Amino acid sequence: MANRSETLFAEAQRHLVGGVNSAVRAFRSVGGTPVFMRRGAGAWIEDEDGKQYVDYVLSYGPLAIGHAHPEVVEAISQTAANGTSFGAPTVLETELAVLVRELMPSIERIRMVNSGTEACLSAVRLARGYTGRDRILKFRGNYHGHVDALLVEAGSGVLTLGIPGSPGVPAAVTEMTLTAPYNDLEAVRSLFADYGDTIAAVLVEPVSGNMNCVPARPDFLAGLRQICDDSGALLVFDEVMSGFRAALGGAQALYGVKPDLTCLGKVIGGGLPVGALGGRAEVMEHLAPSGPVYQAGTLSGNPLAMASGLATLRNLSQPDVHARAEAWTRRLVAGLRERADAAGVPFATHQAGTMFGLFFTHADTVERFEDVAGCDAERFVRFFHGMLEAGVYLAPSAFEAGFVSTAHDEAALSHTLDAAERVFSHL
Ligand SMILES: *Cc1c(COP(=O)(O)O)cnc(C)c1O
Repeated sequence: MANRSETLFAEAQRHLVGGVNSAVRAFRSVGGTPVFMRRGAGAWIEDEDGKQYVDYVLSYGPLAIGHAHPEVVEAISQTAANGTSFGAPTVLETELAVLVRELMPSIERIRMVNSGTEACLSAVRLARGYTGRDRILKFRGNYHGHVDALLVEAGSGVLTLGIPGSPGVPAAVTEMTLTAPYNDLEAVRSLFADYGDTIAAVLVEPVSGNMNCVPARPDFLAGLRQICDDSGALLVFDEVMSGFRAALGGAQALYGVKPDLTCLGKVIGGGLPVGALGGRAEVMEHLAPSGPVYQAGTLSGNPLAMASGLATLRNLSQPDVHARAEAWTRRLVAGLRERADAAGVPFATHQAGTMFGLFFTHADTVERFEDVAGCDAERFVRFFHGMLEAGVYLAPSAFEAGFVSTAHDEAALSHTLDAAERVFSHL
């Protein structure tokens, strides 16, 4: 029986490339038809057939306080009534900057942009402009937006020079991109031994959320900090996903490691398009108009987006609010593990704050891209479709992290765990 999503997707494909505006939405790795959503409230979303789901995608992270939170809706509508964009400074930009700086003290100056991708590409340009060096180092399985220089496929070698990960990216652009396995300090040391005085920056997801959810090992980030200090490279934390999630103050608060620059996105816009680049004043002041490294944006610091981000972060930073969502996430992953064990399904989980990862694997440790790629992909696909059918919306890929909001409550938990119990028993 054709549901409305099938009809709508067929129509969308006649007009939009692949029927979607972001490749990750297309269900290519799980098969079937993407579900068209029409409404969200708190932890729940509703599709075009009126079916309800507990949502663990949350727009791939941004909705830290759930769908259509009244405070966010109110802030956006009030702001919109006064005009949607000026191309001139507004007080909302400073207010959001002040709040972000309180939550992440490593940020002394900030530049608002419109997406995580923009934050990361500006970070690379700034790091190169500041250090006068051209190479950058990233980790296999970490994603920093669709930035040419960062779309690098590491290949099968342990230490590989950058080969472009997409047609349309010239080899000349990625020649300056080095890659190392995640959580592997020895590999990083060895690259620095060869190229150290030409490396402008190390970019890292301090909790990786684009190869499923894989936190850094306890010593990894501190080790990177030391290597960067010794060599004069900048340490850039891409906290587009982990910011305001791994902990309220981001992964940098969780691990107690201070980056030179931080990329933000997702939660900082509370569901509207915002990204940000922040960090040490001395480095940030190299950006235009204070310094020579050019960066600009017609809609950067847009009032609606600032209002949405402010309302979201103000709510989230009230006492205990984030901590309760973290505790809820802990119960979720523990509950899922129990039910997988009871059904005899080999299963592991990771959690960092309100991010989580589910792995169909016998392995005790999941620390790098290869560990994630080694999980049982077919089992994930069956689990995904079983949960979707049962009214639980997970990201349609075994390489995506899961997200929890402050709106996830007892009803959402029992709905999810009951569904998982039934689905695990048929895996
Ligand atoms: C989502 C994401 C990006 C890209 O952000 P967009 O807003 O999609 O451009 C960059 N880095 C990380 C870690 C992300 O999770």
